[in-house]
Amino acid sequence: MAVLSDRMKRRFEELGKRFAEQLPARIAELEATYSCFGEASDLTPLVRLRDLAHRLAGTGATFGYAGLSLDARLLESEIDAILENGQAPPEEQHGTIGALIAAIAATAAGAESPAGGRKGSSHSSAHKRAAERREHEVDGAVRDAGSDSEVLEMDKIEENGQPPLDTPVLYDNTESGDEMKQIFEQLSFFGFEIRPLAALDSASYSAAQPAVVLTEVSRLVQDRDDGLAPHIAAIEAGVVKLVCFSSSDSVGTRLSAVRAGSAAFVSRPVDLVQLIDGLEALTNKRPDNPFHILLVDDDPEQVSHVAWILQQAGMITSVVTNPHYLFSAMIDARPELILLDMYLGDCTGVELTKVIRQQEVFVGVPIVYLSIESDREKQIEAIAAGADDFLTKPVDPEQFVRLVRTRCQRTRAMRYYMERDSLTGLRDHSSLMDRLSTELQRASRLKSSVCFAMLDLDYFKRANDRYGHLVGDRVLKTLARLLQERLRNTDAIGRWGGEEFGVILLDTDVTQGARLMNAIREQFSELVHQVGHDTFQLTFSCGVAAFPQYDGAMVLTEAADRALYAAKEQGRNKVITA
Ligand code: GH3
Ligand code: MG
Ligand code: MG
Repeated sequence: MAVLSDRMKRRFEELGKRFAEQLPARIAELEATYSCFGEASDLTPLVRLRDLAHRLAGTGATFGYAGLSLDARLLESEIDAILENGQAPPEEQHGTIGALIAAIAATAAGAESPAGGRKGSSHSSAHKRAAERREHEVDGAVRDAGSDSEVLEMDKIEENGQPPLDTPVLYDNTESGDEMKQIFEQLSFFGFEIRPLAALDSASYSAAQPAVVLTEVSRLVQDRDDGLAPHIAAIEAGVVKLVCFSSSDSVGTRLSAVRAGSAAFVSRPVDLVQLIDGLEALTNKRPDNPFHILLVDDDPEQVSHVAWILQQAGMITSVVTNPHYLFSAMIDARPELILLDMYLGDCTGVELTKVIRQQEVFVGVPIVYLSIESDREKQIEAIAAGADDFLTKPVDPEQFVRLVRTRCQRTRAMRYYMERDSLTGLRDHSSLMDRLSTELQRASRLKSSVCFAMLDLDYFKRANDRYGHLVGDRVLKTLARLLQERLRNTDAIGRWGGEEFGVILLDTDVTQGARLMNAIREQFSELVHQVGHDTFQLTFSCGVAAFPQYDGAMVLTEAADRALYAAKEQGRNKVITA
């Protein structure tokens, strides 16, 4: 956090500097708007004035102009009172407004300066170059946030929010019997690469994605004649992880493994799903997606500062400056948290909260106000509209990030338990349908295609009858894992029910979708499921349909279902398009 803080402070100073530079222009606008407001009964200039004052109050507070912010706040409430009245104010109130504007202008002209003198410090050329570079960065961010487009993706990383990871490598130090050979083959389907232990050298150490050595416990006990001697330090440091296999599962063997520094113990016969789960955890193969925060604020400058703080903490932010674009932003961004300003141009945060809460699909998204409003009564009233919390600006960046993160983690955990199937960890039926509906809305706006595939295991009842329900469950988990492995993070996978699965493929047409599902079908049919010393293989049938040819979640899923039925009719182990 220390490094982050430093960068934050620097960036914060730069934004503050920019605010200072823009201050004269803002004051000029304030004065010009005030001059339009004469004896005329038209209140439009007042609304504009209130707006300007509101922004100045907020941004001023953020950047340490306490006096200026206070005056602007007073100006805002003065105008609020007039607007509530709904008629042109008496002459004496003009005076108050004029006086406040004059006070603000005076402060801005230099009577007040926030902590930390900036001008005329060092003039060394290196220092200047660094300053110019930073200036450029700041410029970009502020220009972005202030541009005309209403929904801004700031710093869009990748579709799934993660840089691509290398394939994790497993180093083999086992007794390569038939069982292991088969397991290695299957591990390769799940995105692991296997090399002999001899190929491991310090150049392949990576803390971000540790190398994993698969070894036999029986090798460990023989005076370290186990090929691992050169890697002991790396094992202790955790950059090489040890996974120990043994056919004897006793406290004694487990102790030997732990003493050698093992991170996991696998008893034979191997449970493939469990092994893959463990290996993925050890290699950080499935890191969490970054949290996505939606910021709704009509002040581009302030919001860009807040967004920047969150981005530095690894979160993705989307910004809406015009509330009328809120719904499309919520559908596009699928945020885990909404940060809402209290006063936004032509509506209030409370009104927006009510509007959001009236829609069932958005009911689980937490709303947190971020505003300079410090009146506790008003805050509580605002929360009562259906929001979750109230944060007062200016925020302490580190506390703010911690708060946002904690809240997002809760949202994610709750969504997980509410929407997931407990056996496979996939979305449940209704969650998948909800997702399909939102994706179809999005696709029709973006003129893209969405593919839906429905899968059903072939003759699954037989396998269940023969090997038992638990073995059947393991097959379901294996298929779930394979789907997760083969599909993108942005695609959605659900357990449709029983031994049926549904898959939503974004920006994919029916031909591409069928090709992908067919590749997965082939891989799945090659997987060998183990029961004691017995093995068996299974297949699935699949129906594929796509939007826009089939429009609407029900229409689309029914088309996929009919195609699935056709695949069963035509002999199973097939992918058929609608
Ligand atoms: P078909 O090729 O026609 O799909 O044949 P099938 O046997 O797969 O289909 P059927 O609909 O006759 O049977 C589905 C079976 O799936 C029945 C049930 O035993 C099994 N099943 C459904 N849900 C679960 C589950 O959660 N766990 C396990 N182990 N089995 C399940
Ligand atoms: Mg079925
Ligand atoms: Mg079936």
